[in-house]
Amino acid sequence: LAQLYGPLNMLGYIYRSVNQSLVDTEKLLSLLAEPTEINDKPNAPDLIVENGEIEFENVSFSYDGRTTALNGVSFKVPKGSSVALVGESGSGKSTILRLLYRFYDLKEGEGRILIDGKDIRDVTQASLRKAIGVVPQDSVLFNSSVAYNIGYGKFGASQEEIEAAAKAAQMHDRIMSFPDGYDTKVGERGVRLSGGEKQRVAIARTLLKNPPILLLDEATSALDTSTEKDIQKALQHLQEGRSSLSIAHRLSTIASADLILVLKDGQIVEQGTHAELLALDGVFATMWADQVSSSDGASSHKKDLVTG
Ligand code: ATP
Repeated sequence: LAQLYGPLNMLGYIYRSVNQSLVDTEKLLSLLAEPTEINDKPNAPDLIVENGEIEFENVSFSYDGRTTALNGVSFKVPKGSSVALVGESGSGKSTILRLLYRFYDLKEGEGRILIDGKDIRDVTQASLRKAIGVVPQDSVLFNSSVAYNIGYGKFGASQEEIEAAAKAAQMHDRIMSFPDGYDTKVGERGVRLSGGEKQRVAIARTLLKNPPILLLDEATSALDTSTEKDIQKALQHLQEGRSSLSIAHRLSTIASADLILVLKDGQIVEQGTHAELLALDGVFATMWADQVSSSDGASSHKKDLVTG
């Protein structure tokens, strides 16, 4: 391995990257069962991402061969655009992200998933996962400094790069309020960060990783308004120029998505922008009305949308 990868510190980096992506995806995808093992085809080439366009082509999938998790799902995420997935629990949102990350391979007759026109089953998993940044609901932090936790995204990241990423992720000021600034230890045995802060650390880390494709899993729990605003701003920075697929639990946060896909029982039942879906007065509009009536926070967002 050392011969293949060069210096030992590079190996350490590779180990950490793999470890990191496992930690992230494990959390992101909070699997009910162990994923099956996926093998690369012999001599599979690396994925070369030019535009980062994602396409699901008539994708159907079942975990157990009996119940349907996805049924004939087709959509495109054009270069640099943001697509949000909404739908009730069990509708298939996480399955879409898991398949794109190749936790499972589609079988013959189950459709295709393409990135820049290339079937993801035909390229190496390592290159695919390198091209994808994951921001999970609840990031795991290492028992180390906050600088280490952010710098993890890029081998050899400088302090300046780490700070720039933290600034873009709306986390710099908070870090400067810690006793030792960027050297402050976080995690189980250090300063405990809130869910929103951990997510911003994950965003800063992903900014450093600089992947062309993003998978985001929005936090389920409601955040206070200013944290919510900070996270939205951080995510805007992160999504700029990248293709992103996000799972949205709170509908108010996806008003600016380029496209919203509404899933039900593994199928896309509606799609459009926020305004188009409200005008359609169907499943999304009903979900929206339910969230508005059960949360004051969402109703103020609704007011913003209607007036703005
Ligand atoms: P949630 O909002 O609750 O996370 P979701 O929309 O992400 O739900 P999925 O997790 O994609 O839904 O699940 C789609 C369907 O697949 C559901 O019927 C679910 O029970 C089933 N499913 C999900 N993961 C597994 C698994 N590992 N093994 C078997 N069935 C699964």
